[in-house]
Formats: sequence, structure tokens, C-alpha cells
Amino acid sequence: MRYDSDFLISFAKENNFVLDKDYTNERISSVSFIEGICNTCGNKFTKKFYLIYINGCYCTSCVRKKSQKQKIETCKKTCIMKYGVENISQVKKFQDKKINTFIEKYGEPVLYKDGIGQFDSNGSLLNEFICKYDCIKKLKMSDKTLSKALDKNIAYNNTYFKTLGTKLQHI
Ligand SMILES: [Zn+2]
Repeated sequence: MRYDSDFLISFAKENNFVLDKDYTNERISSVSFIEGICNTCGNKFTKKFYLIYINGCYCTSCVRKKSQKQKIETCKKTCIMKYGVENISQVKKFQDKKINTFIEKYGEPVLYKDGIGQFDSNGSLLNEFICKYDCIKKLKMSDKTLSKALDKNIAYNNTYFKTLGTKLQHI
């Protein structure tokens, strides 16, 4: 392919691109400035031939808007894939809500992966431990006792133990 006037004219035709000048028999190259009308906003623009070929028949600001829009679309897609919502602020809202619900229920969150909760006989959370080992160490109980307490809901010093699962990740 050669960046000449024939190519420019046929390229304009194929892309419904209005040239603002008659380029028939003009000596042009890939770096020649071409005057045209933007396909999106209708504004006149002057741009190098190869840039029109690469970015389409749009003025610079429309090209910029287009690439921004594409960026946003890509972000949205990534966000939907990762979190199931369109934008990250929705994720934040969702997480805040989760945290607030948790605080209402259990108090200030700490982070852990396989947490253990110690509850009194009314089911109120007394202590939370980041893992089994943490619980055993702090309460000086045996692994067996904790396992029994967890599996069979057997009271230990009048308290009950439950796994808390994974608690909130840092946001
Ligand atoms: Zn434009």
C-alpha cells in the first residue's frame, strides 16, 4: 500500500470520511497533513495521513475521547470480572456495608483467614483468634479440647467456640 492521493481518496470513501480539500493528483505521503472533517463531531481537522489511517477519521480530541472511553470500558470489564460490579467505588460501598454489618454483629474487625470465635452461653462474642493456634496459645487449652469444642460444641470454661471463617480483607 502506498500513501498517495488515490489511496487517500479511496480510504476516505470507504470510511465515509469527508476530505476538506480536493486531493486528486496531489503529491502526498504518509506524513502529509490532510485536511478533513471529523467523523464524530464534524469539526475540521488537519492530521498526518498515517495517523488518520491508524486512528480513524477523527479529530485529535475525538481520538482522545475514544481512547478514554475504551480505557473506561476495559476497567469496567475487569471490575465486573473481578467483583461483579461495574466500578471500584461500588466494590468499596459493598465492602463498607459488609464491614459495618460485621461491626454491628461482632465489633471492630481484625484480619484473619481461619478465625476462631469464643462465645459466652448467650452467643455473644468474647474473643476472636486469628487461627486455631492463636486460640490454643492464648487460652492455654489443648488442640484436642479446641477441636472438641469446635466439632461438638462442648463448652470450655462455660464458653463456646466457633470457626469464623475468613474475615474481611484489607481494603
Ligand atoms: Zn472530532
